[in-house]
Parts: sequence; C-alpha cells; structure tokens
Amino acid sequence: MEQRQKFKMIRYIGYCFRDILRFTPLMFLGKLAVSLVEGVLAVWQPILIADICELAADLNGINRIDFNRNIFFLCLCIGLPALSSIITRGTTIYNDCKKESCYGWNMFEHAQKVRLEALEDSQILDTFQKADAAYSDEMAGSKMLSNVFMITEATLICISTVFVVGRFSVWLIPGAVVGCIPHLVVTLLSEKRRATVYRTQSGIRRRMQYLWVQFCKKESVKEMRSMGFGRYLKKLWVEANVKTMRDMQEVELRALKLSSLDAIIKNACYAANIAIALFLMLQEKIAVGQFAACLSAFAILQSELMRLGNKIGDFANSYHFVEEYYDFFQTETETDGEKEYQPFEKEIQLRDVHFRYCGSEKDALNGVNLNINKGEHVVIVGVNGSGKTTLSKVLTGSYRASSGTVCYDGQNVDDLRKNSFYRDISLVPQDFVHYNFTLRENISISDLKYMGDEKRLENVVDTMDIKELVQSIGGLDIQLGREFGGRELSGGEWQKVAIARGLFRDSKLIILDEPTSALDPLMEYDILTKFLGLIQGKTSVIISHRVGICRSADKIVVMKEGRVVECGTHEQLQQAGGEYSRIWQEQAKWY
Ligand code: ADP
Repeated sequence: MEQRQKFKMIRYIGYCFRDILRFTPLMFLGKLAVSLVEGVLAVWQPILIADICELAADLNGINRIDFNRNIFFLCLCIGLPALSSIITRGTTIYNDCKKESCYGWNMFEHAQKVRLEALEDSQILDTFQKADAAYSDEMAGSKMLSNVFMITEATLICISTVFVVGRFSVWLIPGAVVGCIPHLVVTLLSEKRRATVYRTQSGIRRRMQYLWVQFCKKESVKEMRSMGFGRYLKKLWVEANVKTMRDMQEVELRALKLSSLDAIIKNACYAANIAIALFLMLQEKIAVGQFAACLSAFAILQSELMRLGNKIGDFANSYHFVEEYYDFFQTETETDGEKEYQPFEKEIQLRDVHFRYCGSEKDALNGVNLNINKGEHVVIVGVNGSGKTTLSKVLTGSYRASSGTVCYDGQNVDDLRKNSFYRDISLVPQDFVHYNFTLRENISISDLKYMGDEKRLENVVDTMDIKELVQSIGGLDIQLGREFGGRELSGGEWQKVAIARGLFRDSKLIILDEPTSALDPLMEYDILTKFLGLIQGKTSVIISHRVGICRSADKIVVMKEGRVVECGTHEQLQQAGGEYSRIWQEQAKWY
C-alpha cells in the first residue's frame, strides 16, 4: 500500500473512532470492556481445564474446594460470553439507530457548506453519492467499529492462547504460531485483491447504478416505453454487469485456491500440534491435564483464527465504505466572508468578471461588465449557452468569480458573510425543485418567518394566477407530487408555484432564471408583466431566451459567448440594429 494511502487509512480510522466516541460514548466503552473481558475469559478456559484435570487425576485424593472453585470459574468462562453477547446486541440495536442518524446529520452539515460550483463537478457529485450510500446502505461506521473490536478480541485470544500452550512447553509454540500465519496471509492477500478490483470498478459500478435508476424513474420509464429504447438500456446494463461479475469471479477463484492451500496447512499444523502435545505427554514433559488443556487451546486457536481472518476481511470491506464516507468531508467548503452585508441602496457593479467551470477549457463568463441600479428591472437575453445562468449564479454569490469583482454598493460579495447576504436575495433557478409537500409549503418554504402569514400567501396566490389551481386541487393544504400519493401539477403549474415561492420571500433583489420556459409565449408575457407590477420597489433580474418581456424592462442586457454585447432599453437596442434587434425580429411572430 502506498505511504499516502496508509496515512489516510490511519486518519480515517481515527475519524471513525472520534465520531463513535462523540455520538455514543457509552456504547464505545461498553463494547471495549466486553471485548477485553471475553478475550481474557477465553484464555482462562484452557488453564482451568488443565487445573481441573490435574486435580481429578491426583492420586492423593481430590481437593474438593479447589476442584469446585475451578468448575465454578469454568462455568463462568462459558456462560459470561453468552450473557455479554445478549447485552451487546441489545445496546447495539438501540445505539445503531442513534449513531446512524448522527452520521447522516454530520453529512448534512457538511453538504450545507460545500461550494456550490463544486456541485457542478461530476467527480464531487460521485463522492457525494458514494458517501450517501456508505452511510445509508452500508452503515460503514458501525460495521467498522464492531470489526475493530472483534479483531482486537480475536488477536488478544490468539496471542494469549499461544502463551498458555507455551507455559506448558516451549515446544508447543512454533506449531501454534506457524498455524496462524498462512490463514492471515491468505485473508490479507485476498482482501487486498478484492479491494483493488472494487476500486477500479468504481466508474463502471456508478454507470450501472445510473442505468438502474433509469429503469425505476418515472420520467425515463415513460420515455423508454414510448421511444422503445428499454432493450438498449438493458443491454448496456447487462454488459456492465457481466464485466464486473467476471472480474469479481476471477478474484474469488484465486481466493478459493489460496484458501484451499491455507486449509491444508492449517489442518496439518493442527494435527502436528496434537502430535507434539501427545509426544510431550508420553515423554512426561507435560501432565495429562495439560494435554487436555492443549487440545482445548488448539481448538480455540483454530476458531479464533477463522474469526480473525473473517473479521479482517470484513474490516477491509467496511473500510472501503468508511473511506467513501470520509472522502466526502474532504470536499472544499465555501469560504465565508467576515463582513456583515448592508442592503444595497445604489447599485450592483460587475467589473471584468470571468468564470470557468471545473474541468472546462473555456470561460463561461469572459470579462462581464455590468451595472444594475437599485429598483431597476433588468432582463438578460441571449441564445442558449451564452452565459446567462452562470451570470445569475455569480451575481448572487452562489459561484465565486474566477477573476474580477461583484460589488453591492462597493461591498465585494467575496468578503460578505453569506447568511447575511443571501437574506436579501430571492432566486428562482431554472432547475427549481418540485417539493413533494403541500402547496402551502411549496410556496412559503422560501421565508420561514412568514410561513403562517395568510395575507402574504393570498397576495402571492392572486398575483401568480394560481387561485383556480388551488380550488381545482382542493386547497392549499393538499399534498403535491405523485411519489407520496399527492396531486401532480403540469410543468407550467409547477413553474408558477416556483415563481410564487420566489415572490413570497421578503427580499430586495429577485432573480428569475427562465422560470416560464414551460409556458407559451403569451402566457409567459402575461405572468411576467404581472410579476413586474407586484415587485415595484424591488430590483429584479429576469433571464430569458425569449424577448417578449423586454419592452417592460428598464434595462436589457444581451449576452453572447460569455460577454455583455449590448445594454440599453428596448427602443435603444432596436435602433442600434444589433444582436437584440436580430433576436427580436426572429421572435416577433410570437407576440
Ligand atoms: P445559458 O444560461 O445562456 O444557456 P449557461 O450559463 O448555462 O448559458 O452556460 C454558459 C456556458 O457554460 C456554456 O458553454 C455551457 O456549456 C457551460 N456550462 C454550463 N454549465 C456547465 C457545467 N456545469 N460544467 C461545465 N460547463 C458548463
């Protein structure tokens, strides 16, 4: 294993223990105590057997007190592990629920701080998904912890058992030690190989998972049926599955060969150990009781070795998921500024702003200069891919400009405390979410402090023309979305709800990114005009690839290839006869 990988493994195991100690300290200490007690009891057993046999075989008569005491301790050695395993299982059931929710909460807290532009990077999204699976499907932390305890316990038992037989005769030590080695080597080799193959398969597994999701997702199932490409997706999935299975089969076959060899060596050592013990007894180097204890010790050694091997395997397996879980916490978080935001009174200024997406070879924003005055209604137009959405993200501080400045009355967005800044902004993104909540929640979730404010909600419902919708679905408290058996809305209705959500938020700046693309041009015009009427006094930025609303705007910004190529009113830009005028001519037939 490479040095860096080793350090990472030690660090992550450390994190795992740290979190378990933080989340459930009592369980951690309890499990540790149980492991140590069980380890000691298991080794004490052969010593007691030896003493009992010695006492029973004493020709001068049996010492009843010692004999009974040893029998009592032997019963304790056998009974206590059973009792402690019941207690451990009970506490684990209770604590696992609590612990897993702590792991999930940890993830949520970090996800809240991840830089938003990082979420555009497919590798980071992959890390996100893997961590989620490691926490929710695999319960990586719990498995890892119980494996660590079992490995500690089994190692303790193996080492002490070798010492016990060594106490009877040093000649018994080599056989006992040699018997341990092959099994451990085989387990480590096989697990290392499994982990390597699993790691190299990460890409293809992700693709398989993606394809599988398509078989179950409402939208893709509908499209698949109507377009008839289900078989094609199945073929892709089967190919990927066959490839992963083949690689795994190869690994398992090699592991099988190695473990057959290991079984032969292990049993040969076991037989040799018994033969040596028998020989020593016949030579009167060890007593009959000690011979009996040796048999018991060898049996313990065999079973503990098996357990140790299995647990090392499980450990390697669960470490893989622990690694995926903690890798997520290495994703870069947003750096928060130190200054409290003061609501802008004059203007927003963008100077020579550049922005490039992670992994992209060209700038999505290529030296944008723009002024937006307080109270102005700005419409940003431009063909697809011209940089409008990126501009809205940089403008609202969601993405940090690669170079250049974005200032609100001279306050650089990068220096501001994000919470205070976001408080003043309402953004309705292109890819807004259809929340499977009630209609009321879908609208008022954008400003929790007004959640119970019926008047405010009514106002928004009126403006957005969703009164009829409210009546037709049976009220504001009706669950939306089919996934939970609620009412489904059309694309256009969902868009109206998303704009209503943006409007409900008490903010000075509101940004709509193509929020009406599912509506026809006239309906879009109607809604946006009403929207502009309602937000008098607020500053608004509407992003659209349709120019219908531009006549009502105070300023039109035309984007092309990541730059602002024109800026002015409808009349000014029409007269200029440039890009805007060209787009207007093309779309005039719609209005
Ligand atoms: P518009 O909103 O005008 O359609 P965008 O701002 O979405 O344009 O995109 C501007 C440019 O950035 C386009 O060339 C687009 O391909 C690229 N782009 C957008 N999103 C990403 C992303 N997540 N990763 C890489 N490039 C992107």
